[in-house]
Amino acid sequence: MKLSTMLRGSAMRAPQAQALVSGDTTWTYTELVGESEKAAGVLADRGVRSGDTVAAMTFNEPAFVFTAFGAWMLGATFVPVNHKLQVPEVAYTVGHSGATVGVVSGELAETALAGAPDVDWLTTGAGGTFEELLAEAKPWTETHDDDRAPAEVLYTSGTTSAPKGCVHTHDSLVRLATQISLNLGYESDERILIAMPIWHSAPLNVCMLPVLLMGGTVVLQREYHPIETLELIGAERITTFFGPTVAYLAPLRAAAAHGKDFADFDFSSVRRWTFGGAPIDAAGTGTILESYQPGAHYQLFGMSETGPSGSMLRPHEQLEKPGSIGRTGMIGVQMRVVTADGTEAGPGESGEIWFLSDTVMKGYLGNPEATEAAFEGRWYKTGDIARVDEDGYYYVVDRLKDVIIVGGENVFSLEVEEAIALHPGVADVAVVGKPDPEWGQQVVAFVTPAEGDAGTGLTTEGLRGFLESKLARYKLPREVVIEESLPRNPSGKLLKHELRTVAAG
Ligand code: ATP
Ligand code: MG
Repeated sequence: MKLSTMLRGSAMRAPQAQALVSGDTTWTYTELVGESEKAAGVLADRGVRSGDTVAAMTFNEPAFVFTAFGAWMLGATFVPVNHKLQVPEVAYTVGHSGATVGVVSGELAETALAGAPDVDWLTTGAGGTFEELLAEAKPWTETHDDDRAPAEVLYTSGTTSAPKGCVHTHDSLVRLATQISLNLGYESDERILIAMPIWHSAPLNVCMLPVLLMGGTVVLQREYHPIETLELIGAERITTFFGPTVAYLAPLRAAAAHGKDFADFDFSSVRRWTFGGAPIDAAGTGTILESYQPGAHYQLFGMSETGPSGSMLRPHEQLEKPGSIGRTGMIGVQMRVVTADGTEAGPGESGEIWFLSDTVMKGYLGNPEATEAAFEGRWYKTGDIARVDEDGYYYVVDRLKDVIIVGGENVFSLEVEEAIALHPGVADVAVVGKPDPEWGQQVVAFVTPAEGDAGTGLTTEGLRGFLESKLARYKLPREVVIEESLPRNPSGKLLKHELRTVAAG
């Protein structure tokens, strides 16, 4: 089934149900199909045909949704583009994707045009060309019917190296939507808030597509805001919220600064809170469980390559195994954790996480070498390492590329970071390896000092003293570098490859 066929199915079941909400404007399923057919008409007028590629670089706007379904109706590939990218990054991503036509928010048009001048950009918002053309467009009659055709190219976050484009077909994304709905228990009266950037794999494929499959409502917030987002949950009677850990923790700090009492937010409509995208520790989990009530809590583990489906920690497991990513793959996904010698990791051991699922990408666009390296038969090798506890639960301990090998011993950077973060003088921390002639590598910690007295006077010796009782000697940082801030990508992930370059001098 194509994604546009999936949407039509919901429109047949519930033509008058609310499909999309943005500010004060709403669209029923019939209207959403209609706007998408018109968007297809606009794109066809600009020369888009089956097999072509269409980009969208917007805030969370209805135009993004119309463009996606319009492109899918035409049989074109849709490329969601990170709206925070700067000119050279747009040049790389959009250039690499081969998009010929793009839709861009008015405020971002200059950047998009400078980065990808050959793309025919249509702008959204006041005075924009997209809405103007849409108002006059003739609806497109859908004929393209190939559900094995590429539907999305999802670019990875570029945490470990330059972003790679994961190619997903209609078929794999419809299966993903089904898989996620089943695993999270989405219902037909779901009201999901998309406050996180919609171009990202989770908001797009774990939030929007499954809820549209079920016939629920997608509420768009143009941009996340620690206070306004939580207010919208009450105002729009939201049933499902997704965000990375920081989106849950930031409001707890921001509330006081905004003169708000966190307890006053109205969460009475919420059925489930979902989080994922980056490691979360037991303390962070505890804070989320305590502060975000009522509702069930799910931690999701996945990546652009898998759609992102993968594994999850279910609500009843949260208290007992906080921070774990679960014990198995989700329904529809097989999971293995494979040691360096190719065997299953048992209790106390660690290994690389592999997934097998119909929702795994076809490959990386234009990068057969990376595709080949990422698979073992049909198994996708994630590059993430998990440790197994005595009950068979998995905990992400590091990325394969971030493991530091000191004198033949593996040091997981996350473990050292978690121990350092306990120091009251540390606000933020990143741990990387530095080449060492004697030991192969040694541990270097980059820290930003906490505000106030606690943060002054952080030294290598002081920090090593603090860690001595917590970590084996070989895991202790040889060097502590104090920085004002640490390099993170727009998703908040640490760019350790940059720090490794600094550490290597
Ligand atoms: P790149 O592949 O370009 O280096 P990236 O891996 O950060 O970037 P994404 O596909 O956006 O790009 O992110 C997926 C990664 O995020 C996973 O491989 C994993 O490292 C991390 N991740 C996602 N969810 C979780 C989670 N619940 N717990 C721990 N880590 C997570
Ligand atoms: Mg990755």
